[in-house]
Amino acid sequence: MQGILVITIDDYLNMSDWSFEFTPFLGSRRDFFWIESSQLGFIDETECLALPKSFRILAICGNREAFAEVRTGWDEVENEGGWTRVRDYGLSSAISAPPDLCQFDSYMVLDEHSNIGTIDSALKEFVDYTDEDYLGQTACWDSSPNVESFWKGLEAVNPYYYVGTNAWDLLIFRGQHLRDEFLSSSDVMNVGQCYREEEQNYRRRRWQAVGPECGPEKCFEPNCERLRIRLAIRCYLHQLYNAKEHPDFFV
Ligand SMILES: [Zn+2]
Repeated sequence: MQGILVITIDDYLNMSDWSFEFTPFLGSRRDFFWIESSQLGFIDETECLALPKSFRILAICGNREAFAEVRTGWDEVENEGGWTRVRDYGLSSAISAPPDLCQFDSYMVLDEHSNIGTIDSALKEFVDYTDEDYLGQTACWDSSPNVESFWKGLEAVNPYYYVGTNAWDLLIFRGQHLRDEFLSSSDVMNVGQCYREEEQNYRRRRWQAVGPECGPEKCFEPNCERLRIRLAIRCYLHQLYNAKEHPDFFV
């Protein structure tokens, strides 16, 4: 027996029980200041920062198909389309607007005059964050045997900022001011709204698909006046929530 629900269908559809708190992990190492979070999925970091007038992209890891494609491409042509191969990575020519960075799970934005020889030797023993096969989280990353190789390479390349996308996203900025700029950008400040809209859309779709009560039997739960939904013996909310996981919803 579940008890009487205090949350109503309107509460559910209007999200009055839902809340969001942006809780990134923050840290620093020498000149670099980082953020790690699983809540940055909606954020396009290039929109949150004033990029230098001219810069280079070091593409470290592409997502699945793009990654294979790009690496294959680099094997065949060492220098094409403004990209130069440096070890297994791709270095763009100096550009003033970012290319489609979604194709890269991991990349760095470098100063325009970055030296290829310096980058090449910096990446010799570099192990990228996205090459780790654990599923994110700062604590795991900190204890990884590869963390020193990562930081050593990153510090030698000295990027403007670095982005690594695993189950969690890791963003590392050169200087605290850049991280502050990112954190105070309107996209990051409003990230909760994106999650809210996504969750609300999901609830509306789910309610439309299975929510409406068809009866004619009443909900199985005692003292509930609602009718059962299709393919269940309870009303929608009694079917969805149980008192063990959501004690606040019941009296
Ligand atoms: Zn019910």
